[in-house]
Amino acid sequence: MPIASDSTLRFDVLIVGAGLAGLSAALRLAQRPEKLDICVLEKAPNIGAHTVSGGILNPQTLDQLHPNWKNALKHPPQAVTSDEFWWMTPQKQCRLPVPPGLKNTGNYLVSISQLCQILAAEATAQGVTILTGIAAQTLHTQDNRVQGVQTGAMGLDMQGQPTQNTTPGTDIMAHTTWLAEGCGGHLSQEVIQRFQLSTVPQHYALGVREIWTAPSQPGKVIHTVGWPLSSSAYGGGFIYHYPNDQLAIGWVSGLENPHSDPHQCLQDFKTHPAIAPQLRAGKRMGYAARALNEGGWQALPQLNFPGGALLGCAAGMLDLASMKGMHHAIQSGMLAADHYDPNHPEMHNYDQAVRKGSIGQALLRARNLKPALNKGLYFGLAYGCIDQYLFKGKAPWTYPLHPPKTLELTAPPRHPKHSYDGTLTFNKSSSVYETQVFHREDQPPHLKIHTPDHTQTLHKGHPVMALCPAEVYTIDPTTQAFHLSAGNCIHCKACTLKDPQQITWVPPEGGQGPQFKDIDT
Ligand SMILES: Cc1cc2nc3c(=O)[nH]c(=O)nc-3n(C[C@H](O)[C@H](O)[C@H](O)COP(=O)(O)OP(=O)(O)OC[C@H]3O[C@@H](n4cnc5c(N)ncnc54)[C@H](O)[C@@H]3O)c2cc1C
Ligand code: SF4
Repeated sequence: MPIASDSTLRFDVLIVGAGLAGLSAALRLAQRPEKLDICVLEKAPNIGAHTVSGGILNPQTLDQLHPNWKNALKHPPQAVTSDEFWWMTPQKQCRLPVPPGLKNTGNYLVSISQLCQILAAEATAQGVTILTGIAAQTLHTQDNRVQGVQTGAMGLDMQGQPTQNTTPGTDIMAHTTWLAEGCGGHLSQEVIQRFQLSTVPQHYALGVREIWTAPSQPGKVIHTVGWPLSSSAYGGGFIYHYPNDQLAIGWVSGLENPHSDPHQCLQDFKTHPAIAPQLRAGKRMGYAARALNEGGWQALPQLNFPGGALLGCAAGMLDLASMKGMHHAIQSGMLAADHYDPNHPEMHNYDQAVRKGSIGQALLRARNLKPALNKGLYFGLAYGCIDQYLFKGKAPWTYPLHPPKTLELTAPPRHPKHSYDGTLTFNKSSSVYETQVFHREDQPPHLKIHTPDHTQTLHKGHPVMALCPAEVYTIDPTTQAFHLSAGNCIHCKACTLKDPQQITWVPPEGGQGPQFKDIDT
């Protein structure tokens, strides 16, 4: 139950989320000739602290938005110099032809946090109000139209009651409200349901990324499939080589894999003989995790709703063929700004501009990949070759994207107990420590399990036990009691996307959560 706000702010355009989508929209609006009052809200304590990417940027859209972006970075960005695609077995790797979507000629290796920071600086210089450490908690609606948001109160007790330190939230009202919360945004999910914007349910994956200082070959990009996943499961690894002996190494697994544990996959992946020696000469510097959407064209919701619009990964614009979403996030922000008409604020033209423009074309070309990959890795790869090489994504058929499998509560597989050496491989709790996550302890829990009895199913091997990259859901080995350590949560959203019926995620007090370290470029 939100506490009544004690003040109201009004803007022409309110943008929730200062990722690439939200900041690109704000900057593009500020570049328009007429003066607009624009506000961006960001729940992280500083810009870029909650954004996660491997960091390969297709620069075409950023070149249009901010032609001087390369000079605004601390150092010139590293161009991708080579691409490799590996099939992994436990001991060996075999180089395969690089799929067309994973060829990165002309792309750059960047830090997403730093890109967000330069866009925020430019937008602020052009008059945009950016409020960091402020979470949009609830939507304001009137006459079935979104009118703005209420920000979260600070200083409530665990039961949600005010204390003498409580600061009520603020009503932030706007002519139009754009949700740029990234994948699984809680307000974005609410409008998709409330306004029935989607007919095909979204599919999700979870990506886990570590930053290492280790010998690197700047510009080299490696994507992998196969081990440590079985061929029936969907996922893969990446290793991106940055300048100054820095590496981004990560793993992405589909949430539909039963008992998917991308953190564990990444730890296993790093022990491969082709990878471990390089990492053993270095040190892990950062850990992060974030959900991604993979439904693409078939799951793309209607992008406008009464009173606002969905931008970037909040709508699901990641291109599965290239495993990239940054350029689409930037472009969707630009298109929203270009199609905002103060006299006709319903943003219909924005929806059409995305669908008919290069974002829609890329998603349409990749529309058959996810349905094919859902049939297993071998079929997915073989089909992907035919679809992308032979038909170039223009096959005269569309495989339907079926809804994700319903939640299976099966006993987890009996793995030998994992061991971690603390130099190459790390358990979840030491990984969470790297994120510098912080939540005030005596605030209302930001993770809710709806049916108290549902904790019983957690004992039976609920998928989120393995899935959560931050060990938030645990069973005490001695008492067998279930523990929910919400303070560890690193805001990846995977648990609520896996079991939305039972698990609700809302933002905690603004300015809390992880502070992800990114590549220092
Ligand atoms: C492991 C991994 C690797 C990836 N690698 C690549 C890659 O190499 N190249 C590529 O192009 N793409 C990559 N992607 C995808 C890319 O990172 C995303 O497509 C892109 O960041 C989406 O941008 P966005 O602005 O839509 O969302 P986000 O980057 O998620 O930004 C959303 C922002 O909104 C804020 N927010 C959310 N809710 C609220 C709220 N209620 N109130 C206030 N603030 C809120 C968040 O804190 C965040 O800062 C990768 C993703 C992952 C997870
Ligand atoms: S509890 Fe937090 S870190 Fe764990 S899966 Fe859910 S959102 Fe991610």
